[in-house]
Amino acid sequence: MDILGLYVHVPFCTTKCGYCDFYSVPLRGRAVGQVVRAMIREAEIRALSVDIGPDTVMLGGGTPTVLPDSELQGLLTAIQRHFPTDCLREFTVEANPANLDASRARLLRELGADRVSIGAQSFQPRDLAVLERDHEPATIQKAVRAARGAGFRSLNLDLIFGIPGQTLAGWLDTLRRALDLGSDHLSCYGLTYEPGTSLTGRRDSGHVQPCDEQLEADMFCATIDALTAAGFEHYEISNYARPGQRCLHNLSYWHNRPYVGIGPSAASYLHGERTRNVPDVDRYVELIDHTGDATEEREQLDTLARAGETAMLGLRMTRGIDVVDFQRRTGFDPRVLFRTAIRHFQSLGLLECVVAAGNAGCPTEYVRLTREGLLKANTVMAQFVNPDPPPAGG
Ligand code: SF4
Repeated sequence: MDILGLYVHVPFCTTKCGYCDFYSVPLRGRAVGQVVRAMIREAEIRALSVDIGPDTVMLGGGTPTVLPDSELQGLLTAIQRHFPTDCLREFTVEANPANLDASRARLLRELGADRVSIGAQSFQPRDLAVLERDHEPATIQKAVRAARGAGFRSLNLDLIFGIPGQTLAGWLDTLRRALDLGSDHLSCYGLTYEPGTSLTGRRDSGHVQPCDEQLEADMFCATIDALTAAGFEHYEISNYARPGQRCLHNLSYWHNRPYVGIGPSAASYLHGERTRNVPDVDRYVELIDHTGDATEEREQLDTLARAGETAMLGLRMTRGIDVVDFQRRTGFDPRVLFRTAIRHFQSLGLLECVVAAGNAGCPTEYVRLTREGLLKANTVMAQFVNPDPPPAGG
């Protein structure tokens, strides 16, 4: 049996936030029951065709907490019926503060979730309005109280910096309020302008002025300083955790381990093949009903492409690429396979090779981004997608 992560994509939200390009449709007027039934059917078919046992489950979206209780119950019960849960170490549910009340939080706990990730984004009303969020700062506090009352083991808040009009003082105030709520984990993302979103349209038409690049870099550095001073470990470019509270599900993505995705638009990575379900709820239901398979895209990765992805994802983690582990998993020495990129970015001060304690406590070498490199991570990582030609015999 393959032990891997299981991702379940609930494709509904109450409204569309201005910056978001995740696949989701408004809940109102949709045949929710039909989509959930198709998702349960997909889970059943997947469980029969592949021998897998999830060690982490992520119920994401979209907004899982907009589902009516009966649908949520039906979906989570079926997932646990079709996939063995003996190996389960973490079960996260993403929640919108606007629909996480005490009874919903209790239900999620009863259905097995032990970690909740709340889309707070900001504690400043002005920022929330720019992002077109449907909640206020007080709503976040209520949602956190509901989650704590229900007994979730771990609580994450998603936050965004680099919002048009946001100040460094405003961002630091948001961080302080997130810490005051006793968060175990914080995901702090720089705002991005995705094609086709309403925010990108407002930027292009001059209605919003993007945050100054230097100010955004200052916010990123201030985040590292504030959260590490508060006892958090900065373990991935955008992610911070109290000791023992890292997100295991996302760690498995960054380690480039296999995972299975269920639901419209959900991606899977199994046996070196990346697939993606159709991002259309009606077509998804039709395909599952008629063929039992809603896959729209398929890409089989060769050994070198897999090594490139493993390196790129490894650089997202602040500890960097574990040279020994990388060699064991891909058959290549990353210092040789990416020698051109490593030399280039080392000379610019964006990358470094260091020796630190590895998984078993033995010293191991890591290739990692420097603090300066973290600010330019996308530029560096892009050069790791295409490895140098491996030396003859290697
Ligand atoms: S609630 Fe989340 S998934 Fe839904 S539109 Fe907003 S950001 Fe996107």
